[in-house]
Amino acid sequence: MTATTINGVQVLESEAIEAPISTPDRRVYFKQIRRLLLADGAEHYGCIHCPFTSPKIGLVRTHLKEHRTRDTTPATPPKSPKPSKAKPSPTPAKTDPLHVSTISVASLSSLNLGELVERAQATNQAVKQRDLARKERDAAREALTSWMDRAKQAEHKLSEVQRALQP
Ligand SMILES: [Zn+2]
Repeated sequence: MTATTINGVQVLESEAIEAPISTPDRRVYFKQIRRLLLADGAEHYGCIHCPFTSPKIGLVRTHLKEHRTRDTTPATPPKSPKPSKAKPSPTPAKTDPLHVSTISVASLSSLNLGELVERAQATNQAVKQRDLARKERDAAREALTSWMDRAKQAEHKLSEVQRALQP
């Protein structure tokens, strides 16, 4: 808003200013500057956007650049377009070699990572062997007595593996 008082002196009138290029046929006015007639008879020029005034029109014109700068600057900087969908976080591999319930936490804490991985891989292998041995044993138990030897072998193998799994 244009100032309504200047240094405590009331602005009596605010009028459009003809631009130098104005002609009687085609009137041209400054769009952003008003001539202000003060109660004490002084004449000032005022910005239409804010209370800025000056006795010199040139200073008001210079002042208007501030508004131009502000106007051309976007209120909010354009945001870079976000990817339509957030990339799904990589799901942890299902075959986690460390996820072996047979290893106790206490025993893990005393191992370094290399040993841990080695241990886990060995354990995984042992678990597979154990499961295989169990199947063999179960199958053998269901079989005839002639299969007992094989069952005993499987049992032996299983106990071996189970011993290997002890922390
Ligand atoms: Zn202004």
